[in-house]
Amino acid sequence: MILTLIEHDQGVIDPQTFGMLTAVRGLAAEQGGALHAILIGADVAGLAAGLGDYGVTAVHLIEQESLDAYAPNAWAACVVEVMAAEKPTAVVGVGTERSNEVMAHVAARTDLPLAANCLAVQPEDDAWFVTRMRWGGTLHEEARLHGEPKLLTIAALGIEVETAPSGSAPEIIAVIPDLTDADLLVRVISRVEPERKGISLTDAPVVVSGGRGVGSAEGFAVLEQLAALLNGAVGCSRVVTNNGWRPHAEQIGQTGTRVAPELYIACGISGAIQHWVGCKGAKQILAINTDAEAPMVTKADYAVIGDLHEVIPALMAEIEKLKG
Ligand SMILES: Cc1cc2nc3c(=O)[nH]c(=O)nc-3n(C[C@H](O)[C@H](O)[C@H](O)COP(=O)(O)OP(=O)(O)OC[C@H]3O[C@@H](n4cnc5c(N)ncnc54)[C@H](O)[C@@H]3O)c2cc1C
Repeated sequence: MILTLIEHDQGVIDPQTFGMLTAVRGLAAEQGGALHAILIGADVAGLAAGLGDYGVTAVHLIEQESLDAYAPNAWAACVVEVMAAEKPTAVVGVGTERSNEVMAHVAARTDLPLAANCLAVQPEDDAWFVTRMRWGGTLHEEARLHGEPKLLTIAALGIEVETAPSGSAPEIIAVIPDLTDADLLVRVISRVEPERKGISLTDAPVVVSGGRGVGSAEGFAVLEQLAALLNGAVGCSRVVTNNGWRPHAEQIGQTGTRVAPELYIACGISGAIQHWVGCKGAKQILAINTDAEAPMVTKADYAVIGDLHEVIPALMAEIEKLKG
C-alpha cells in the first residue's frame, strides 16, 4: 500500500495534490497495492469523499480541534502513527513547501531518507530509482532511495491531473493521534493575506510578466492592461521586485512563484535560469525583447523582437480588433 499525505488549507485541497495522486496511482497499481491517504485537520472529513475520484481507496482521517491550524510537527507525528500501524511500502507527499516540511519531520522522526521533489520514480528491488529537482529545477539529480518504507515527495506542478477510471467513495478509517504539547508548539497562529487584485498568478490562464526592460513601476501599466484584456495576471522578475516596482508576491522563479499557465508573455525578461524555472511549465511562451539572443527569446515558442512599449500596445490593438 502507498500512503499519501493530503495537503489542504482553509478547507481546500492544494491542487498540486491531485497531480501527485495521479502520478502515484500508477505506482501503486504497478506495485499491486492500494492507494491510501492521510487527512489531518479539525473539520476535514468533507474533503475525504472526493479523493476516491483520484483512486484513493481508504482515508486515514485524523480530526481534532487542536489540529485546526497547520502544525508541521503534529502532522508528522500523525503520519508516523499511521505509518507504524499500516506499514505502507511508501509514504508520499506533494513537493510543496508545507508537505516537504512535514515529510522532512517524518524522515527525522523515523531516521529514514527522504527524496524530495521527485519528477520520476522507478521502483527497483531494494532501492527506488528517482529523478528529483534540485536548486529550484536548475539541476535534475538521479538517485537511489533506500529505506523501508520509502519517503518521497512529488514535484507535481505541471502534471496533467487525471481522475481514476472507476473512482468510488473511499473507506474512512478514523485515527486518534497521540499528540504532545510539544508537537503543537509550532503552528500557524495568524495570517496576513497579500492584497490581491483580480485572478491569482497560479490560476491565471495567461501571465503577463515584466522584467528590467519594463523600465519603471509606471511602465507596468501597459502590462496590466494586456493582462486585463486576456483575463490574466501580472508577474515579474526578481530585478523588478528588488527595484520595488512590484510586490514579491508577483515574482516568478526559483525564489518566487512557479506558474504553469496556457500562455506566459515575458516582456523585457532575459530568461535567467532562476526565472526560467518559474515559467517553464507554461504551455506556450511568448517573449517580447529587444535582444534576439536573450535566453528567453531562444527558448520561447514565439518571440517578437522589439521595444515592449511599442509591441504591447500594437498587440492590444490587434486583440481588441479580434474581440470586436
Ligand atoms: C539565488 C538566486 C535566486 C534568484 N531567484 C530569482 C527568481 O525567483 N526570479 C527571477 O526572476 N530572478 C531570480 N534571480 C535573478 C536572476 O538571476 C536574474 O538576475 C533576473 O531574473 C534578471 O531579471 P530580468 O530578466 O528582469 O533582467 P535582465 O537580466 O537585466 O534582463 C532584461 C531584459 O530586458 C530586455 N529589454 C531591455 N529593454 C527592453 C525593452 N524596452 N523592450 C523589450 N525588452 C527589453 C533586455 O534585452 C534583457 O533581455 C535569482 C538569482 C539568484 C542568484
